[in-house]
Amino acid sequence: MSDRRLLAVLAHPDDESFGIGGTLARYAAEGVDVHVAIATDGAAGSVVADYEEQRERLAEVRRQELEAAVAVLGVRLHMLGYRDSGYIDDPANLHPEAFINADREEVAGRIVGLIRTLRPQVVITHDETGGYYHPDHIMAWDVTTRAFHAAGDPEQYPHLGPAPYQPMRLYYSSLPRRWIKVFTTIMRLRGQDPSRIGRNEDIDMTRLGQPLSRLHARLNIFPYWEKKREASSHHQSQGGGGFASSLPTWFQKRLFSMEYFIRAYPPAPDGTIERDLFQGIDEQ
Ligand SMILES: [Zn+2]
Repeated sequence: MSDRRLLAVLAHPDDESFGIGGTLARYAAEGVDVHVAIATDGAAGSVVADYEEQRERLAEVRRQELEAAVAVLGVRLHMLGYRDSGYIDDPANLHPEAFINADREEVAGRIVGLIRTLRPQVVITHDETGGYYHPDHIMAWDVTTRAFHAAGDPEQYPHLGPAPYQPMRLYYSSLPRRWIKVFTTIMRLRGQDPSRIGRNEDIDMTRLGQPLSRLHARLNIFPYWEKKREASSHHQSQGGGGFASSLPTWFQKRLFSMEYFIRAYPPAPDGTIERDLFQGIDEQ
Protein backbone atom coordinates (compact mmCIF):
# COMPACT_ATOMS: atom_id res chain seq x y z
CA MET A 1 0.00 0.00 0.00
CA SER A 2 1.61 3.21 -1.11
CA ASP A 3 -0.74 5.77 0.41
CA ARG A 4 0.30 5.26 4.01
CA ARG A 5 0.78 8.51 5.87
CA LEU A 6 2.23 9.23 9.30
CA LEU A 7 2.30 12.43 11.36
CA ALA A 8 4.52 12.84 14.41
CA VAL A 9 3.87 15.88 16.63
CA LEU A 10 6.89 16.52 18.85
CA ALA A 11 8.00 19.27 21.19
CA HIS A 12 11.50 20.31 20.11
CA PRO A 13 13.94 20.40 17.23
CA ASP A 14 15.94 17.16 17.98
CA ASP A 15 13.05 15.02 19.31
CA GLU A 16 12.53 13.73 15.75
CA SER A 17 16.11 12.38 15.74
CA PHE A 18 17.14 11.56 19.33
CA GLY A 19 13.68 10.21 20.14
CA ILE A 20 12.04 8.37 17.24
CA GLY A 21 14.54 8.92 14.44
CA GLY A 22 14.75 5.21 13.65
CA THR A 23 10.98 4.84 13.29
CA LEU A 24 10.69 7.93 11.08
CA ALA A 25 13.61 6.84 8.89
CA ARG A 26 12.19 3.32 8.62
CA TYR A 27 8.76 4.42 7.45
CA ALA A 28 10.16 7.03 5.07
CA ALA A 29 12.39 4.31 3.55
CA GLU A 30 9.36 2.02 3.22
CA GLY A 31 7.55 4.64 1.13
CA VAL A 32 5.28 6.05 3.84
CA ASP A 33 4.57 9.78 3.52
CA VAL A 34 6.10 10.86 6.84
CA HIS A 35 5.45 14.30 8.33
CA VAL A 36 6.93 15.80 11.47
CA ALA A 37 5.41 18.80 13.25
CA ILE A 38 7.75 20.46 15.73
CA ALA A 39 5.96 22.62 18.28
CA THR A 40 8.75 24.95 19.41
CA ASP A 41 11.79 26.82 18.17
CA GLY A 42 14.20 25.36 20.71
CA ALA A 43 15.44 28.77 21.82
CA ALA A 44 15.30 27.92 25.54
CA GLY A 45 17.05 24.56 25.20
CA SER A 46 20.25 23.96 27.08
CA VAL A 47 23.20 24.17 24.72
CA VAL A 48 26.72 22.85 24.63
CA ALA A 49 29.36 25.38 25.69
CA ASP A 50 30.41 26.51 22.20
CA TYR A 51 26.90 27.70 21.46
CA GLU A 52 26.31 29.78 24.58
CA GLU A 53 27.36 33.02 22.84
CA GLN A 54 24.98 32.27 19.99
CA ARG A 55 21.98 32.10 22.28
CA GLU A 56 20.23 35.12 20.71
CA ARG A 57 20.17 33.39 17.39
CA LEU A 58 19.66 29.93 18.82
CA ALA A 59 16.23 29.51 17.24
CA GLU A 60 17.79 30.07 13.81
CA VAL A 61 20.69 27.69 14.52
CA ARG A 62 18.30 25.00 15.69
CA ARG A 63 16.06 25.47 12.66
CA GLN A 64 19.06 24.83 10.39
CA GLU A 65 20.06 21.77 12.42
CA LEU A 66 16.50 20.49 12.22
CA GLU A 67 16.28 20.96 8.46
CA ALA A 68 19.52 19.02 7.99
CA ALA A 69 18.24 16.24 10.28
CA VAL A 70 14.86 15.81 8.57
CA ALA A 71 16.62 15.69 5.19
CA VAL A 72 18.61 12.69 6.47
CA LEU A 73 15.47 11.00 7.80
CA GLY A 74 13.59 11.66 4.57
CA VAL A 75 10.56 13.28 6.22
CA ARG A 76 8.62 16.51 5.69
CA LEU A 77 8.81 19.26 8.30
CA HIS A 78 6.07 21.50 9.70
CA MET A 79 6.78 24.13 12.36
CA LEU A 80 4.03 25.08 14.81
CA GLY A 81 6.10 28.13 15.72
CA TYR A 82 5.92 28.38 19.53
CA ARG A 83 8.67 29.56 21.81
CA ASP A 84 9.99 26.65 23.82
CA SER A 85 9.78 26.31 27.54
CA GLY A 86 12.58 25.16 29.80
CA TYR A 87 12.66 22.16 32.09
CA ILE A 88 10.64 22.14 35.33
CA ASP A 89 10.98 25.48 37.23
CA ASP A 90 13.02 27.15 34.48
CA PRO A 91 12.47 30.94 34.32
CA ALA A 92 11.79 30.56 30.56
CA ASN A 93 8.49 28.92 31.55
CA LEU A 94 7.10 32.26 32.70
CA HIS A 95 7.48 33.77 29.24
CA PRO A 96 3.98 34.59 27.96
CA GLU A 97 4.83 33.18 24.53
CA ALA A 98 6.23 29.92 25.91
CA PHE A 99 4.55 26.87 24.41
CA ILE A 100 3.24 25.68 27.80
CA ASN A 101 1.42 29.00 28.30
CA ALA A 102 -0.28 28.88 24.90
CA ASP A 103 -4.03 28.38 24.71
CA ARG A 104 -4.51 24.61 24.48
CA GLU A 105 -7.60 24.82 22.30
CA GLU A 106 -5.71 27.03 19.88
CA VAL A 107 -2.68 24.72 19.73
CA ALA A 108 -4.89 21.67 19.30
CA GLY A 109 -6.63 23.55 16.48
CA ARG A 110 -3.37 23.93 14.59
CA ILE A 111 -2.79 20.19 14.88
CA VAL A 112 -6.40 19.48 13.80
CA GLY A 113 -5.70 21.59 10.70
CA LEU A 114 -2.59 19.54 9.96
CA ILE A 115 -4.39 16.22 10.50
CA ARG A 116 -7.27 17.22 8.21
CA THR A 117 -4.85 18.40 5.53
CA LEU A 118 -2.34 15.52 5.66
CA ARG A 119 -4.87 12.73 6.52
CA PRO A 120 -2.39 10.44 8.33
CA GLN A 121 -3.60 6.98 9.36
CA VAL A 122 -1.07 7.00 12.21
CA VAL A 123 -0.30 9.85 14.61
CA ILE A 124 2.61 9.78 17.07
CA THR A 125 3.44 12.05 19.99
CA HIS A 126 5.16 11.90 23.39
CA ASP A 127 3.62 9.93 26.26
CA GLU A 128 1.90 11.51 29.27
CA THR A 129 5.21 11.71 31.17
CA GLY A 130 6.78 13.46 28.22
CA GLY A 131 9.49 10.79 28.40
CA TYR A 132 11.39 12.76 31.01
CA TYR A 133 8.76 15.14 32.43
CA HIS A 134 9.73 18.04 30.17
CA PRO A 135 6.75 20.46 30.29
CA ASP A 136 6.85 21.00 26.49
CA HIS A 137 6.69 17.24 25.88
CA ILE A 138 3.73 16.88 28.23
CA MET A 139 2.01 19.82 26.51
CA ALA A 140 2.60 18.16 23.10
CA TRP A 141 1.06 14.93 24.44
CA ASP A 142 -2.02 16.79 25.72
CA VAL A 143 -2.74 18.93 22.66
CA THR A 144 -2.02 16.14 20.17
CA THR A 145 -4.33 13.77 22.03
CA ARG A 146 -7.07 16.42 21.98
CA ALA A 147 -6.48 17.08 18.28
CA PHE A 148 -6.52 13.37 17.42
CA HIS A 149 -10.00 13.02 18.92
CA ALA A 150 -11.30 16.33 17.54
CA ALA A 151 -10.10 16.06 13.93
CA GLY A 152 -12.88 13.69 12.85
CA ASP A 153 -15.64 15.62 14.59
CA PRO A 154 -17.40 18.11 12.28
CA GLU A 155 -18.68 20.04 15.31
CA GLN A 156 -15.16 20.84 16.48
CA TYR A 157 -13.03 23.40 14.68
CA PRO A 158 -15.56 23.50 11.78
CA HIS A 159 -13.57 26.10 9.86
CA LEU A 160 -10.22 24.28 9.97
CA GLY A 161 -8.90 22.05 7.20
CA PRO A 162 -10.57 20.75 4.06
CA ALA A 163 -12.89 18.27 5.87
CA PRO A 164 -13.12 16.33 9.15
CA TYR A 165 -10.81 13.33 9.17
CA GLN A 166 -10.29 10.70 11.87
CA PRO A 167 -6.85 9.03 11.94
CA MET A 168 -6.91 5.33 12.87
CA ARG A 169 -4.15 5.04 15.41
CA LEU A 170 -2.55 7.18 18.08
CA TYR A 171 0.80 6.11 19.51
CA TYR A 172 2.87 7.59 22.34
CA SER A 173 6.64 7.33 22.12
CA SER A 174 7.99 5.82 25.34
CA LEU A 175 11.04 4.28 26.94
CA PRO A 176 11.03 0.92 28.70
CA ARG A 177 11.85 1.07 32.39
CA ARG A 178 14.09 -1.96 31.89
CA TRP A 179 16.18 0.02 29.42
CA ILE A 180 16.45 2.92 31.86
CA LYS A 181 17.62 0.46 34.53
CA VAL A 182 20.52 -0.65 32.34
CA PHE A 183 21.50 2.95 31.85
CA THR A 184 21.24 3.98 35.51
CA THR A 185 23.30 0.93 36.47
CA ILE A 186 26.04 1.94 34.04
CA MET A 187 25.98 5.47 35.42
CA ARG A 188 26.34 4.25 39.00
CA LEU A 189 29.23 1.99 37.96
CA ARG A 190 30.90 5.06 36.49
CA GLY A 191 30.39 6.94 39.74
CA GLN A 192 27.67 9.18 38.31
CA ASP A 193 24.35 9.95 39.99
CA PRO A 194 21.44 9.01 37.69
CA SER A 195 19.03 11.05 39.78
CA ARG A 196 20.80 14.28 38.79
CA ILE A 197 21.51 14.23 35.08
CA GLY A 198 21.40 16.83 32.33
CA ARG A 199 23.37 20.03 32.08
CA ASN A 200 21.46 21.49 35.03
CA GLU A 201 21.45 18.21 36.96
CA ASP A 202 17.69 18.51 37.27
CA ILE A 203 16.57 15.31 35.55
CA ASP A 204 15.95 12.29 37.75
CA MET A 205 16.53 9.35 35.46
CA THR A 206 15.35 6.85 38.06
CA ARG A 207 11.75 8.11 37.63
CA LEU A 208 11.70 7.47 33.89
CA GLY A 209 10.38 4.65 31.76
CA GLN A 210 7.25 2.55 31.35
CA PRO A 211 6.63 -1.10 32.23
CA LEU A 212 7.18 -3.35 29.22
CA SER A 213 3.56 -4.58 29.30
CA ARG A 214 2.38 -1.05 28.36
CA LEU A 215 4.73 -0.80 25.39
CA HIS A 216 2.42 -2.25 22.78
CA ALA A 217 4.52 -1.48 19.74
CA ARG A 218 8.20 -2.42 19.59
CA LEU A 219 9.91 -1.47 16.39
CA ASN A 220 13.20 -2.90 15.30
CA ILE A 221 15.16 0.07 14.01
CA PHE A 222 18.52 -1.70 13.85
CA PRO A 223 18.79 -1.24 10.04
CA TYR A 224 18.15 2.51 10.51
CA TRP A 225 20.41 3.06 13.49
CA GLU A 226 23.12 4.75 11.38
CA LYS A 227 20.55 7.08 9.83
CA LYS A 228 19.24 7.98 13.27
CA ARG A 229 22.77 8.68 14.40
CA GLU A 230 23.51 10.76 11.31
CA ALA A 231 20.32 12.82 11.78
CA SER A 232 21.15 13.27 15.48
CA SER A 233 24.66 14.42 14.60
CA HIS A 234 23.19 17.50 12.90
CA HIS A 235 21.93 18.76 16.26
CA GLN A 236 25.37 20.04 17.19
CA SER A 237 24.05 22.71 19.57
CA GLN A 238 22.51 19.86 21.58
CA GLY A 239 25.65 17.78 21.69
CA GLY A 240 24.76 15.95 18.47
CA GLY A 241 24.41 12.45 19.80
CA GLY A 242 21.78 12.14 22.44
CA PHE A 243 22.58 11.50 26.04
CA ALA A 244 24.11 8.07 25.53
CA SER A 245 26.65 9.01 22.88
CA SER A 246 29.57 8.47 25.25
CA LEU A 247 28.89 4.73 25.31
CA PRO A 248 30.75 2.42 22.90
CA THR A 249 29.08 2.25 19.47
CA TRP A 250 28.48 -1.51 19.50
CA PHE A 251 26.76 -1.20 22.87
CA GLN A 252 24.60 1.75 21.79
CA LYS A 253 23.58 -0.19 18.72
CA ARG A 254 22.46 -3.14 20.81
CA LEU A 255 20.77 -1.07 23.48
CA PHE A 256 19.01 1.29 21.10
CA SER A 257 18.00 -1.05 18.30
CA MET A 258 14.35 -0.78 19.31
CA GLU A 259 11.92 2.13 19.61
CA TYR A 260 8.85 1.69 21.80
CA PHE A 261 5.31 3.01 21.71
CA ILE A 262 2.16 2.88 23.79
CA ARG A 263 -0.92 2.39 21.61
CA ALA A 264 -3.27 5.00 23.00
CA TYR A 265 -5.99 4.58 20.37
CA PRO A 266 -7.59 2.21 19.82
CA PRO A 267 -6.67 1.21 23.38
CA ALA A 268 -4.56 -1.94 23.45
CA PRO A 269 -4.68 -4.54 26.22
CA ASP A 270 -1.47 -4.84 28.21
CA GLY A 271 0.78 -7.47 26.73
CA THR A 272 -0.13 -6.58 23.13
CA ILE A 273 2.98 -6.66 20.95
CA GLU A 274 2.96 -4.99 17.55
CA ARG A 275 6.00 -4.79 15.30
CA ASP A 276 4.56 -2.26 12.86
CA LEU A 277 2.50 0.87 13.56
CA PHE A 278 0.54 0.21 10.36
CA GLN A 279 -0.08 -3.46 11.20
CA GLY A 280 -3.56 -4.44 10.07
CA ILE A 281 -4.42 -1.01 8.66
CA ASP A 282 -4.34 -2.20 5.03
CA GLU A 283 -7.16 -4.65 5.77
CA GLN A 284 -9.46 -2.06 7.30
ZN1 LIG B 1 12.35 17.58 23.51
